[in-house]
Amino acid sequence: MQLKNKNLLQTQAYIDGAFSSAASGATFPVTNPYDGSKLAEVADCGAEDTERAIQAAAKAFKVWRKFSAGKRARILKAWYLLQIENAADLAQILTLEQGKPLGEAKGEIRYGASFVEWFAEEARRIYGDVIPGHQSDKRIMTIKQPVGVVAAITPWNFPSAMITRKVAPALAAGCTVVIKPSELTPLSALALAELATQAGFPPGVINIVTTNKAPEVGTAMTASPIVRKLSFTGSTMVGKLLLGQCAATVKKVSLELGGNAPFIVFDDADMDKAVAGAVAAKYRNAGQTCICANRIFVQSSVYDDFITRFTVAVKEQQLGDGMTAGTVVGPMIEEKAVCSVEAIVSDAKDKGGLVLTGGKRSGSGSSLLFEPTVVANATRDMKVFTTEIFGPVAPVFRFETEEEVIEMANDTEYGLASYFYGRDYARIWRVAEALEYGMVGINTGMISTTVAPFGGVKHSGFGREGSKYGMDDYLEIKYLCWGGVE
Ligand code: ADP
Repeated sequence: MQLKNKNLLQTQAYIDGAFSSAASGATFPVTNPYDGSKLAEVADCGAEDTERAIQAAAKAFKVWRKFSAGKRARILKAWYLLQIENAADLAQILTLEQGKPLGEAKGEIRYGASFVEWFAEEARRIYGDVIPGHQSDKRIMTIKQPVGVVAAITPWNFPSAMITRKVAPALAAGCTVVIKPSELTPLSALALAELATQAGFPPGVINIVTTNKAPEVGTAMTASPIVRKLSFTGSTMVGKLLLGQCAATVKKVSLELGGNAPFIVFDDADMDKAVAGAVAAKYRNAGQTCICANRIFVQSSVYDDFITRFTVAVKEQQLGDGMTAGTVVGPMIEEKAVCSVEAIVSDAKDKGGLVLTGGKRSGSGSSLLFEPTVVANATRDMKVFTTEIFGPVAPVFRFETEEEVIEMANDTEYGLASYFYGRDYARIWRVAEALEYGMVGINTGMISTTVAPFGGVKHSGFGREGSKYGMDDYLEIKYLCWGGVE
């Protein structure tokens, strides 16, 4: 690793403003998915360390919530500027532990930092209301207050941005946080902690518990009566488990879970733009995002045209080491992930799917490189229809009518992102309204931005991240009823 700022490579947990080992002294290795080389040994925390972090956050909450909004905003802004200043180093750490191409990693750092900037600004706009009273001697007001100590559990696919997207609104609201990053990518989290110290957060406002024992730390967080809110991004299975665990202490919960995004191309679509949008929505992060196009539906009359052009574009996607210039698709995160994608492709082939490009490991460089894949003649009985692929595989389905494609698009338990291309404005409205998803990309494959509310419906979870709504998940509304105003 060639970092300008060597302090960004931290390997201990960050609790109460200081880096420290796990109470047990245990550590676990973090490796580069491209070549399996070991990057660091990181503190393997347990329940005891988690409890210490929660106590530190509780103590800090008393101080942090009393800071004026302007003071919280200034510290957040300083953290944002440090992230931008150190973007090259942060991106390098991210690519080395996660695998995505360096250009994408830089994009993630800027995207992640933009939440910190946005919520630094929003901190000053936590307004209440004055409500006309229901009786002549009554006056009614509302104020918004921070929920308290927040636990955040984040995934490996966006090791930096999934942290800032939760932590920035929490801190802006006046909450303090205990973060458990993914065991696969803890280094990006710890680098943010190093910058948080420099930015001037008081000790205990931000805590990071690194661990290879997620269930133990997760249970300590969810069972704690001090933790008032859990924000989780990850698989639907773990999300459901954590939601259940939070029941005993009735925590406020936000869940950003799996997706099964439809990407629909109608016959009046601009075909060049639809192809470019499909490539962008499918192969970013080697297909490992919860908003990746999972099922591409193309109207019959343009099916052959789309698939020919799409396959040409997919063949141009350069596979390789994320650190090498020109790489567009990096390695997958781990062996388990590649095996799952292999099983999905083999199931599609068995059921009549036609692999037009890819369909296998690259056979050179790294065992975790899976070729960008296009499967034509996809059908509903295949796993690709029901399963979140989470890899660089694009199944392309054929449809005849708008009614048919809406029915197919909504035939899933998930409801996160959806996309469609077309020009007829009445149909655009009908389809946008009919899709049972939290987000709809219309003539675009790129929808993530700080200024819009990101989140899902159905088994994709609840709560919204980013935008003017993003702070609501970290605030309680309190109502003050004034009587006797004669
Ligand atoms: P993915 O499939 O994206 O790896 P996971 O849901 O397994 O999704 O992981 C997302 C986050 O949830 C990670 O930080 C992981 O360590 C954590 N996690 C996994 N299992 C548990 C659990 N039982 N309790 C708490 N956190 C968990």
